[in-house]
Amino acid sequence: MTTSPAVSLDPVNAPYDLVVIGGGSGGVASARRAAAHGAKVALVERDRLGGTCVIRGCVPKKLMMYAAKFGRELAEAGPYGWDVSGAQFNMATWQANKRVEIDRLEGIYSRMLENSGVTVFRGNATVRDAQTVLVDGDHALAAKRILIATGGRANRHAVPGIEQAMTSDDILDLYAIPKRLGVLGAGYIALEFASIMQGLGSEVTVFYRDHLPLRGFDESMRVKLAEALTAQGITLMGHSALRSVARTGDTTVVCAGDATHTFDAVLNATGRSPNVAGLGLEALGVDLNADGAIAVNAWSETSVANVYAVGDVTNRMALTPVAIAEGRALVDNLFTGTRRTVDHGSVATATFTMPPLSTVGLTEAAAHEAFGALRIYETEFRPMKVAFAGGITKTAIKVIVDDATDRVLGVHMLGDDSPEIIQALAVAVTMGATKDDLDKTIAVHPTTAEELVLLREVSRRVPA
Ligand code: NDP
Repeated sequence: MTTSPAVSLDPVNAPYDLVVIGGGSGGVASARRAAAHGAKVALVERDRLGGTCVIRGCVPKKLMMYAAKFGRELAEAGPYGWDVSGAQFNMATWQANKRVEIDRLEGIYSRMLENSGVTVFRGNATVRDAQTVLVDGDHALAAKRILIATGGRANRHAVPGIEQAMTSDDILDLYAIPKRLGVLGAGYIALEFASIMQGLGSEVTVFYRDHLPLRGFDESMRVKLAEALTAQGITLMGHSALRSVARTGDTTVVCAGDATHTFDAVLNATGRSPNVAGLGLEALGVDLNADGAIAVNAWSETSVANVYAVGDVTNRMALTPVAIAEGRALVDNLFTGTRRTVDHGSVATATFTMPPLSTVGLTEAAAHEAFGALRIYETEFRPMKVAFAGGITKTAIKVIVDDATDRVLGVHMLGDDSPEIIQALAVAVTMGATKDDLDKTIAVHPTTAEELVLLREVSRRVPA
């Protein structure tokens, strides 16, 4: 006698070579790559195709950042001869256009899956056993392998009342700019929205418990970013332990340290957690890490044979391109016999603050610990465009070099266009470029990026 719930079998009798749970960046990339290898693939998604990045993360965030950046550039346009008086921002217009664009992108994701031959199922997936995924509890998909790519969601537990604050999902759906915005936390999401909302007209206050925002980034660049955000009018409240959040009517009160602060809206940006609830992982015996993420080895294998996990649900490095790379490596291994892994050590990243902070390789502290003696090259300047307009925002560059081998260990850049510049430079750093290689490179003039190949003088030496 069976104790399993009654299920209807998927009409296609042969089991799927791969059933992917989650239609975000990692899941979609894995499913399409597997199908390209000739595998029979199903993908189950309960919400919208595209996941956090496309629907409620990177993409709409960047569209919002562009809206804010136009505002900043309008302010700089006067000295260039433009009269832009009377320019107004209308959040409802942005919101309507953003929705159309996200719908368009979701349609592209859907068509890409269809054209790849991936069968998409809409509903809640649970793993009944290592060979069966249930959709909405009653439709069974037979699976030779299962890939969990369910991403993460905003934490709502840091302090009492924090569930009354907006998350990044909610702030992207606003139709009007709050006059006073409190931001809780000082990671990627907190600082990006602090910058954006300040650029769109909010008075922004950021609360965090460390001495500087962006824990984990290079210390001196954190100082420079804090200075830049402060100069733009954002209030940074470091050493502020959060105590509570309480919403009454149209206002929200944040209790932090010994003081209370009243806002029209509050953004909870106190981190994200892996989406594992309701998947049936405990019964299956899939091990989780202390942070609740699915424990995987370098090949994205879980503790259960034929069950794999990639992306934010593994909390290795919660970045879209990393999830995609992990998924593609896994699927290549499964269907072509390779044994590839993803190097998480040289991943370039950017926080889309204004100005953005972009980085590839090691921080000074991490480089010192791993390599000992270092040469540090630093420069800070007002770019031509800013200086002409009488602006004050500086661009800062820091290059960290292993003194023994001349190898470039890390590059950090705070300034407009730094995400684009770091992306290109990441190729050289990943290939093991030396400082001499940078020196031998002829500059493109006049650009901001040329400063990276014109750093002749050592700014500081860090002894072993
Ligand atoms: P982060 O981990 O970057 O930041 C979380 C912030 O919340 C930190 O400042 C942390 O402080 C604070 N925090 C956590 N718990 C508490 C608490 N109990 N009380 C007070 N403060 C608290 O998470 P995000 O949610 O900003 O981003 C999640 C991930 O998404 C990032 O790690 C990143 O990988 C990815 N992401 C990437 C982006 C990009 O590439 N541009 C953009 C957005 C997200 P503390 O430092 O003191 O722990």
